[in-house]
Amino acid sequence: MATPEFQQTLGKTGGFSGTALHTGEKVSLKLHPAPVDHGIKFRRKDLQDEPTIDANIGNLKTVERATTIGEGPVRVHTVEHVLSALWAMGVDNAIVEMDANEPPIGDGSAQPYVDLIRKAGVTTQEEPRKFFDVRDTMHVESKTGALLVLLPDDKFRISCTQAGPNNQFTQFLSMEVTPAVFEREIAPARTFVYYEDVKPLMDKNLIKGGSLENAIVVRGDAVLSKEPLRFADEFVRHKILDIIGDLALVGRRIRGHAVAVKPGHAANAELARSITREQIRRSAVATPRAIPSGDAGLDTDEVMQILPHRFPFLMVDRIISFETETKCVGVKTVTINEPCFQRHFPGHPVMPGVMQVEAMAQVASILLFKLARTTSRIGYFMSADAVKFRKPVLPGDTIFIHAELTKSRGERLAKAKCHCVVNDAIVSEAELMFTFLDK
Ligand SMILES: [Zn+2]
Repeated sequence: MATPEFQQTLGKTGGFSGTALHTGEKVSLKLHPAPVDHGIKFRRKDLQDEPTIDANIGNLKTVERATTIGEGPVRVHTVEHVLSALWAMGVDNAIVEMDANEPPIGDGSAQPYVDLIRKAGVTTQEEPRKFFDVRDTMHVESKTGALLVLLPDDKFRISCTQAGPNNQFTQFLSMEVTPAVFEREIAPARTFVYYEDVKPLMDKNLIKGGSLENAIVVRGDAVLSKEPLRFADEFVRHKILDIIGDLALVGRRIRGHAVAVKPGHAANAELARSITREQIRRSAVATPRAIPSGDAGLDTDEVMQILPHRFPFLMVDRIISFETETKCVGVKTVTINEPCFQRHFPGHPVMPGVMQVEAMAQVASILLFKLARTTSRIGYFMSADAVKFRKPVLPGDTIFIHAELTKSRGERLAKAKCHCVVNDAIVSEAELMFTFLDK
């Protein structure tokens, strides 16, 4: 297990002013430090009561050309560059205060924000970071040809392929996203637009603040901008910048590899939404307890390293807490796919009581193996006393399996008092005795 990473915020408040892209008006932006578990919030200083908007995917409003979030009637547009900079530079908690509905566009990159964060400094806080670990490959596709695949990885990586109309300016770049890499390789990359896309907007006066000073304009084969390209592959770098900013709306650090082909805000946001849905599903499995990390619990892989049992006889999904050396709680989510339900009973599926006893025995053996610090032995069930089945367990239930070692004689014999809980009610209980023999 890696050492826990801690949440971070800004060392102090800092700010700068500039032009808003859409209105062309002057806007002042300030980044403030914020306490642990605050996340990133936008504050509209120009509105009465200074409302704040949580930078999370639930508040996503529109994704045309830029990412807009809102709560109630309040909106903040084009949040992706400032979010990208904060997230990639390691800031988990901050207030982004503005006196308009949009941050300053700066030079169209995340550079001004990185400079600001650098000046303010980044400080470590007392609480560990929250992560989303990709376990199964996830993917989203859009009608416009965008494809995003998220693969398991122990780091946060992005591999991106960008291609313009007729596969013009096709560029590919792959990297692990760290503050140093972001600052050097990604932050300076500017927004680019296609002339055909922006011409109608310019005609309608919808991008009053837009100019060749804050965007690269692509017209046919020509690349127009005030300053020459900062990288030969500046476009794909900016796409990566936008992906980071949009995925920041997940509100958790992602451990996974995002592989993106022709990404855009809509597809990025869709992936952020899928991640959040998966995260909610995972938390629901273990409610009301949070899934601990490190030595506080065991995930399925770790459980399987200890127990020799396999599907359908592995009756523990994970251990969610070790309360003391002799007490722990395991979790098993019961689904209709369990083979036992095919016969027990057709049309009226009830989990067999004996399988609950087996679940208790497995949780108790994990406790004992952990205490004895060996997995070279197998536990054999000797007796089950005072067994009571109080309520039926049905498909869809999550069973919390509590086990407490009450007696262990030498390293060979142990007794455990166990009970299973569903929806805060005890559904079964038993006192188990088992012996341990070498494999
Ligand atoms: Zn952008």
